[in-house]
Amino acid sequence: MDTPLVLLDVDGVLNPLQRSPGYQRYRASPNGVVYRLLLNPLHGPLLTALAADTGAELVWASYWTDAANDWISPRVGLPSLPHVPIPRHDPRFSLGAWKARHVAAWVGKRPFVWLEDEPDVTEVLAKETRLGPHLIVPVDPLHGLTETHVDQARTWLEQLVRDHGY
Ligand SMILES: [Mg+2]
Repeated sequence: MDTPLVLLDVDGVLNPLQRSPGYQRYRASPNGVVYRLLLNPLHGPLLTALAADTGAELVWASYWTDAANDWISPRVGLPSLPHVPIPRHDPRFSLGAWKARHVAAWVGKRPFVWLEDEPDVTEVLAKETRLGPHLIVPVDPLHGLTETHVDQARTWLEQLVRDHGY
């Protein structure tokens, strides 16, 4: 059986719009443009525990693609992760719709939980008929990822193992 995936967005999920306690400010310049980031070093341990406890694999599903391994992973306490290859945003689509098309093509039938703040990914995935079991955990981009989201992902992954023996 295929290992379930935990798909992880960066902006609006690990990097929220508003600073809450526990977040630190950083700058990143992956393509020569300077971005301001708010990152929380507790996110890495939370997510690696989720993956270890449920047997799932963490994968970036972000426009940062593999640059997340340089600029995000070391600051939140994550190892280097594989990434969904998402091409440069085509402005004919919304950010969420463009990303969701490429996520759907890449995951195939593997089960996945997706921690994501773009609401329209749901609509795109609903039209995909060939996906395996999946759950989108919507994250409020203002506050980013919380333990509640990780608990939702954990509950779903544990149920998946019980139902399908993944
Ligand atoms: Mg986002």
